[in-house]
Amino acid sequence: MKRSLLIKPMMDEDYPTAVRAEGIYIYDEHGKKYLDGSSGAVTASLGHAVTEIIEAVHEQSKEVSFVYRSQFTTIPAEQLAQKLNTLINAKENYWSFFVNSGSEAAETAMKIAIQHFQEQGKTQKNKILSRWISYHGITIGALSMSGHVKRRERFVPLLEDYPSISAPYCYQCPFHKTFPDCQLACASELETAIKRIGAQHIAAFIAEPIVGAAGGVIVPPEGYYQQIRKICDRYNILFIADEVMTGLGRTGKMFALNHWDVLPDIMTLGKGLSAGYTPIAATLASDKVMKPILQGTKSIMSGHTFSANPQSTAVALAVLNYIEKENLVEKVESQGAILLQKLHVLAKGFPMIGDIRGKGLLIGVEFTSESHGSLTQKIVTTAREKGLLLYPASAGRDGFEGDAIIISPPFTITEKEINQLIKLFSDTLHEVQGG
Ligand code: PMP
Repeated sequence: MKRSLLIKPMMDEDYPTAVRAEGIYIYDEHGKKYLDGSSGAVTASLGHAVTEIIEAVHEQSKEVSFVYRSQFTTIPAEQLAQKLNTLINAKENYWSFFVNSGSEAAETAMKIAIQHFQEQGKTQKNKILSRWISYHGITIGALSMSGHVKRRERFVPLLEDYPSISAPYCYQCPFHKTFPDCQLACASELETAIKRIGAQHIAAFIAEPIVGAAGGVIVPPEGYYQQIRKICDRYNILFIADEVMTGLGRTGKMFALNHWDVLPDIMTLGKGLSAGYTPIAATLASDKVMKPILQGTKSIMSGHTFSANPQSTAVALAVLNYIEKENLVEKVESQGAILLQKLHVLAKGFPMIGDIRGKGLLIGVEFTSESHGSLTQKIVTTAREKGLLLYPASAGRDGFEGDAIIISPPFTITEKEINQLIKLFSDTLHEVQGG
């Protein structure tokens, strides 16, 4: 093993050194080619080395590389906030606060929600309700809202004791029911929880519109979010949509909640916002949420040295313009349908595949319960050996009963490249099944 002082995810593993990346491929120092079947961690949505984006960083760094947010605003930061508001396309305006990671965006969302009620004298309204099987980030606040045993277990004594409800997980329904006979018991659970805890203690309900890393792409049944929205309104609870993984085209709509025509009060974005070219994430809050803050303290009690960094905001702006110019959201929808259909055909030959689901280019493949959580890591490792990168969604042992991987290639993937992905995935499944 190479001598290294870099702390990596698994210290006893040897990682390939990436030296070049272009389109949907990454190359290591030995010239081995990897098809980026997961866009890294569902991030590199435009693929690698897109000239326009690289030029945007370069041009901005020549103008202003860094200024501090309490001393200056910048043109790209202002334009990005306007652009995101335009993309949401709601009657109300949405304000943006820029941070550096999805976890920070979740922390900020939580704090804005709590502050919204504090400014109105409702200081007891400070709990955040979330769902079990969820991931909102690794920092203590974000982790407190996350239903992910493995990532929480070491820190449980430090976490806020936030309540949670079940995720709308139809493949292994927590209520042992089937849609539509279930009458959306998973959504009704929100109301039951609110009544038990008392709405006067709850600031917000947070959910990933489609559960990603913790559950392997859990798509809710029709009507779920409409009901969630109504319940939040009925009890004066803010609805936070964590669109860090699903936002900005990944699911074939600009935002995943657009699939159900629902608007959140607060939204978090990350990953695809910069498509991986620089670190940036955002917390967006509607006029309704901001009003008491603007009339009160006039400042949100959060911020980071690199918030609204000019280079990162310039990149995000270039990414959003590129998505529009290249009609990538429509492309995600069409390429996603092709990939999903090919995966369904492939699955017929592999009884270990239990469920395939997703929207756009965010697709989960869950293995049957007979796998006892043992397949994810084997499949991810074997695929990498063959030159295919997949995202492990869970490893069974973390409390989530399933065993799943995420397939989420860049939006620019062609049909020929989809066929390559399918071939490499098929070879991987054959090897794992045979072994
Ligand atoms: N929310 C969601 C839905 C995520 O998928 C992630 C990252 N997997 C995060 C928040 C945390 O983002 P980050 O890793 O950038 O802190």
